Amino acid sequence: MKVHEYQAKELFARYGVPVPRGRVASTAQEARAIAEELGGRVVVKAQIHAGGRGKGRVVPQEETAEMYRKLREDPASHEGQVRGERVGGVRLADSPEEAEAAAAAMLGKYLVSIQTGPEGKPVRRVLVEEQSAVEREFYFSITIDGGLESALILASTEGGQEIEEVARRNPEAIVRIPVNFAAGYQPYIGRWLASRLGLLDEALQRQLAELAAGLYRAFVENDASLVEVNPLVLTKDGRLLALDAKFNVDDNALFRQKALAELRDREQEDPLEVRAQELGIANYIKLDGNIGCIVNGAGLAMATMDTIKLAGGEPANFLDIGTVNDPQRVVNALRVILEDPSVKAILINIFGGMARVDVIAQGVIEAFKQMEIRVPVVMRLVGTNLAEGEALLQEAGIPVIRAKELAEAARIAVEAARGAVAS
Ligand code: GDP
Ligand code: MN
Repeated sequence: MKVHEYQAKELFARYGVPVPRGRVASTAQEARAIAEELGGRVVVKAQIHAGGRGKGRVVPQEETAEMYRKLREDPASHEGQVRGERVGGVRLADSPEEAEAAAAAMLGKYLVSIQTGPEGKPVRRVLVEEQSAVEREFYFSITIDGGLESALILASTEGGQEIEEVARRNPEAIVRIPVNFAAGYQPYIGRWLASRLGLLDEALQRQLAELAAGLYRAFVENDASLVEVNPLVLTKDGRLLALDAKFNVDDNALFRQKALAELRDREQEDPLEVRAQELGIANYIKLDGNIGCIVNGAGLAMATMDTIKLAGGEPANFLDIGTVNDPQRVVNALRVILEDPSVKAILINIFGGMARVDVIAQGVIEAFKQMEIRVPVVMRLVGTNLAEGEALLQEAGIPVIRAKELAEAARIAVEAARGAVAS
């Protein structure tokens, strides 16, 4: 689960991590009042659950898809500006009036960035902060490296830009420091970071070590999956400051991170994923392709997506339906998938173990009764109660395409999605 920048910064501040002075506003008048409090020269930042805001563009909802396409095709000619005509998600304002105008231009609109997808994200709040005089920009993050079974600090002198881009162009510019969970944060980490980031001044080294230790503690104590500060800046008056802040908490820890769970902002989440959760389909993740998938088991779901790709197609989603003992769950899974307008074919891949094929079949038959299913449905079924399930399908006479093997099922689904096979 993601939280907003202003929430992440409040959390960071509690761990002694320096952040710019500022407050969040939900109206342009409030933004103006905060700017007055802060002395007038501020930065106004759209609060959405996606990065790339500075280079994004604020548009009305009906223009998000078009803007997203333009940003992808030719970013430079469409990206927003921190000053000037084209309103992005980060604006510098030199007076309370300008802050009010910047907030008014963002609030109630949608921000599209390279990270938001074609739907963009609604801007309901803006963070108003004092402007910082930036000397240098760094990148700093903490994630979990499953392979190393440890936390991993990533840092770079190439801050303020997408780290994926830095990793591609200049991988040596990224320093990677594993932090063993049992050993915890050690002082050598701060010294290592400082030397690699070229911070030779002793006072700055101390600041960096405190900041890294504070962020590591925030990461561990809050069950984070990501803490990212991009950019971490050195100001002209010699202070390190978290200018931007991302904080993701592990969904599996929300039961014990109640205060964080309260920060959930469903409006920022993918509407289909929210819908899936409402219908009790917890393991649904929206993807970019056009083949909807229903699979039991996360590993099999991954393998199914791989097989679709191998057959030349693109999955529209990841969906692990789990051990199904209620046909309604299958109906709900099909409902979510059919609500995705990009789905052109559906592949149901079931390896019946504890999940029974006859229950799945009942669910699919029920779905055909309840809904108008216009896209081809390909089913590959094996395992427990296969004969019973096949008998039910036969009897119901619903127009599903059966396949014996996964590779065959994927091939048929890919062809079906291209319109080669009629349902
Ligand atoms: P993002 O685009 O969503 O990652 O938003 P950021 O918070 O990282 O802001 C984008 C960029 O705006 C930063 O990389 C900075 O270069 C710039 N920026 C943001 N706040 C300030 C500020 O107070 N002073 C200056 N000089 N630049 C800022
Ligand atoms: Mn940033």
